[in-house]
Amino acid sequence: MLGLMQDRPLLISQLIDHAAANHGDTEIVSRTVEGPIHRYTYRDARVRARKVAEALISRGVTRGDRIGTLAWNGYRHFELYYGISGMGAVCHTINPRLFPEQIVYIVNHAEDQILFVDLNLLPTVEKLLPQFTTVRHVVAMTDRAHLPRDCRIPTLLVYEELIADQPGTYEWPEFDERTASSLCYTSGTTGNPKGVLYHHRSTLLHAYGSALPDTLGIGARAVVLPVVPMFHVNAWGLPYSGALAGAKLVFPGVALDGASLYELFEQERVTFTAGVPTVWLALLNHMQANKLKLSTLKYAVIGGSAAPPAMIETFARDFGVEVLHAWGMSEMSPLGTVNHPKEKHQALSADELLKVRLKQGRPPFGVEMKIVDDAGKELPRDGKAFGDLLVRGPWITSGYFKGEGGEVLDEGGWFATGDVATIDPDGYMQITDRSKDVIKSGGEWISSINLENAAMAHPAVAEAAVIGVAHPKWDERPLLIVHRKPDAQIDKTELIEFLGTRVAKWWLPDDVQFVDAIPHTATGKILKTKLRETFRDYRLPTA
Ligand code: AMP
Repeated sequence: MLGLMQDRPLLISQLIDHAAANHGDTEIVSRTVEGPIHRYTYRDARVRARKVAEALISRGVTRGDRIGTLAWNGYRHFELYYGISGMGAVCHTINPRLFPEQIVYIVNHAEDQILFVDLNLLPTVEKLLPQFTTVRHVVAMTDRAHLPRDCRIPTLLVYEELIADQPGTYEWPEFDERTASSLCYTSGTTGNPKGVLYHHRSTLLHAYGSALPDTLGIGARAVVLPVVPMFHVNAWGLPYSGALAGAKLVFPGVALDGASLYELFEQERVTFTAGVPTVWLALLNHMQANKLKLSTLKYAVIGGSAAPPAMIETFARDFGVEVLHAWGMSEMSPLGTVNHPKEKHQALSADELLKVRLKQGRPPFGVEMKIVDDAGKELPRDGKAFGDLLVRGPWITSGYFKGEGGEVLDEGGWFATGDVATIDPDGYMQITDRSKDVIKSGGEWISSINLENAAMAHPAVAEAAVIGVAHPKWDERPLLIVHRKPDAQIDKTELIEFLGTRVAKWWLPDDVQFVDAIPHTATGKILKTKLRETFRDYRLPTA
């Protein structure tokens, strides 16, 4: 017997309708690429999102078409999220920091029809345009007055003109909630980037799951500043969960340096923010150098890479900000786990509590996870055994766009994350490595993340990375690569001594190399492939 409840599809357009109806005068504030701060409300955003939909339809866009964006976090990008998906097309967010060949590859692979582009990214598009095979129009996300005179993109349209004459009264259509809504390419370990294709249902369930108190815990009183870009897994869903909750949104635009972010945090009374560790390094350095304090910020989500312990401590001790360590992937929309200590942890000493906070956290309802050994046998949840982390749930991918990469689920419907982890009896997962980054020494695994964290705890270390280097006896041994803080002094012996008090002796790196900078991926993770390439022929002193 079926139940008798209404069968309403879960659609992204409902989020902006909900926010406009119930939080109509709540603000959305943006630092524009043009320069000034722009502010308006959810009510205004809804009208303009409808105009976007109307403009797309007038240009021949139909359901399922892919519409690309090359844009920073701002109100026009927000309108595109809702206008494109709301009418049934697919919002394809493109990371402008990718190599040009990769941008060309993914625009063509996605078959983008129209590209919406922020002002400072127009030159990139101008250069690549001859290589795009499906793009009919490029839309500059600005008004006529700001359009650069020397821009030579044929068929260029201007955002404000495109939507100006539209009525803004569009009625969002209803369709299957599994209709594709947005697309984000992720660079895997090998081969070309692969497209993760979200649907309306997965996006809404993810937004519900994200807003829960032990996940991101966003409510209508929150002021949310996503530093994480809207091209990196939909800014971790914040443009959706923010609307779901009716929170004030603050978009930082292209200025992600410490000073610009600090100014927005204070001026807009931001309470909640999210980003990768590298952006927090810049903010913390700026605040420390200028002896600044944060007066309203309560929570900073750190994800995308492991949150270094020193960062968690500094935020709490010096700035009164609670770090929510989180883990996820593009393939998971992205939220997999968030770290909120439980009541039982409140009695722990500061050191013990920090150990809990270093874990990547517990999954919200909706994400199932388990760890398995090489034979696929489930390992115990004892916080010690580590194995390949598998996940399952309604906002986790079932396969890549156009079938790239083949079948990705096992017979039980589990997706292999490529991460190696432990899970403890309280449900806290801790990543020890990416499966490809783990260092295999004499048949035992050494966690590069733990070693990096230990090195980053030294006050002279700005950033640290650990890779495995070939060793005749042990197969692989760790090499520590360090970027020192400006003017800081530290040498190999001192650093190894420091690590000796923090990790097992056999884990100690066989050598340390000091570098001017550590390379990062387009989403701010340490680019280990590049480091492995640089140090491919490196001979360890112990070899
Ligand atoms: P992406 O799809 O680009 O967001 O990358 C996902 C990968 O980033 C995960 O599979 C992890 O390897 C890594 N990652 C994300 N969050 C964390 C975290 N908190 N700690 C360690 N690694 C993380």
